[in-house]
Amino acid sequence: MADYDYDVLFIGAGPGGYVGAIRAAQLGLKTACAESRETLGGTCLNVGCIPSKALLHGSEKFAEAAGGALARYGVKLGKVELDLAALQADKADAVKGLTGGIEYLFKKNKVEWLKGRASFVDAHTVEVAGKTVTAKEVVIATGSSVTPLPGVEVDNDKGIIVDSTGALALDRVPEHMVVIGGGVIGLELGSVWSRLGAKVTVVEFLDQLLPGMDGDIRKEAAKIFKKQGMDIKLGTKVTGAAVKGKKATLTLEPAKGGEAQTLEADCVLVAIGRRPNVEGLGIDRIGLSLNARGQIDTGHDFRTSVDGVRAIGDVIPGPMLAHKAEDEGIAVAEYIATGTGIVNHAVIPGVVYTMPEFAGVGLTEEAAKDAGLEVKIGKFPMMANSRAKTNHEPDGWVKVIADARTDRVLGAWMIASVAGTMVAQVAQAMEFGATSEDIAYTCHAHPTHSEALKEAAMAVQGKPIHI
Ligand code: FAD
Ligand code: NAD
Repeated sequence: MADYDYDVLFIGAGPGGYVGAIRAAQLGLKTACAESRETLGGTCLNVGCIPSKALLHGSEKFAEAAGGALARYGVKLGKVELDLAALQADKADAVKGLTGGIEYLFKKNKVEWLKGRASFVDAHTVEVAGKTVTAKEVVIATGSSVTPLPGVEVDNDKGIIVDSTGALALDRVPEHMVVIGGGVIGLELGSVWSRLGAKVTVVEFLDQLLPGMDGDIRKEAAKIFKKQGMDIKLGTKVTGAAVKGKKATLTLEPAKGGEAQTLEADCVLVAIGRRPNVEGLGIDRIGLSLNARGQIDTGHDFRTSVDGVRAIGDVIPGPMLAHKAEDEGIAVAEYIATGTGIVNHAVIPGVVYTMPEFAGVGLTEEAAKDAGLEVKIGKFPMMANSRAKTNHEPDGWVKVIADARTDRVLGAWMIASVAGTMVAQVAQAMEFGATSEDIAYTCHAHPTHSEALKEAAMAVQGKPIHI
């Protein structure tokens, strides 16, 4: 058998690659991880999940203070002012702490960080920063980058037309921010700048926001964001942008065609999706091809069509989510070390971390019906949940979708201040094959937002108590 420098080499140290590398090392494999960024943690820790949540949290505090919402609790404030530099410093601190933490975990677990861009020489040989290394198994975990919009050129340094990375780093609050794309990034980062004082207009190509989520969530989202002051232009596409001085002028058209109009902004955020990172990776040298969406197809064990090469995370099909990449990282390490591993792709929760949060797991009502399933639905409004009512969080509801024949939970969708935390319970229940009755007869602590989930499950049987 050939001798290799490593048992396994991960390319990319995002949630897929760094978690996979740590798991592989824990399982006794000699492991390396190539990463070209200056810090570990990938998109998620450096320019994604973590900095966006830091700004969402901080901007929520500011909006609470500046909007007078704290007055009812007897918190009297004088003139409230924003120190954006302090907020950005807090964000940078969170990123530094967490990316540094991964470096510590690599050392602790003896994962070797190969610093630099990796490129395949052959299926078992990779060049990183001019040095060639070999591995018995190579796992591609190179993640994704922003999808460009033709005619709308991003320049994060100028800060006028930006992508998510630029929108996380603005040093001023725009007067008018136009967000192109009413998906997760657009609504999260649009919320940040709206709370900090910008007028925000969201331009979405489709007739609804948040593609992929349950239809009821998508309908409700537009109402909620409009109520928060955002201007939402659905069924509209941006066909071009011209920057003059510190302003951009966008050309908009109805998605179905029609008369064009223009819109001025001093900041434009392009957030129309992300695409897999494969440029410069040398996949042509190993005969690895991409599917029609530019992704690497794999089998259940994450093997690609090339022997010895596997792939995980944003670079393969499925939702582009950090926790999906992490679970695939653990599974691929376990497949390599032991021959078995598991990720249940049918039960991957998704959360939009706005206020309220939008969350769901499993099938949407539409997908369940499209699959020919007969469903029973139970819904319960947060308005009737004692904790949400006490906290002045009236928006939202919980919706449980169960199989009409077996009562098995097929999915659940919710809008609530802590929906991202509540959805974990449904994911676990679904993993255990729970019925809606199982959730309904599980004792939930009072007063908690989670009681709304119990009541929605009771509503599947037609018997909620508090409504
Ligand atoms: P990545 O995290 O993209 O990591 C890939 C790494 O590979 C990168 O560091 C890159 O530098 C490196 N790399 C690429 N090519 C090479 C090469 N040839 N050689 C060496 N290194 C290479 N998901 C959530 O679940 N929750 C959230 O709240 C959330 N918020 C987000 C907010 C924003 C603004 C963005 C942009 C994304 C967010 N995501 C969120 C998505 C999440 O960041 C991704 O799904 C996740 O990071 C994917 O992990 P990954 O390991 O596949 O790839
Ligand atoms: P997205 O797919 O969520 O949304 C993109 C939106 O842009 C869609 O609604 C789409 O219809 C719209 N669009 C596409 N072309 C358009 C055009 N020309 N004009 C107007 N609208 C257009 O993508 P995103 O928001 O860029 O996020 C990328 C990925 O990052 C997502 O897959 C998401 O899973 C991940 N992410 C997750 C979180 C989270 O989990 N909280 C947060 C941020 C990002």
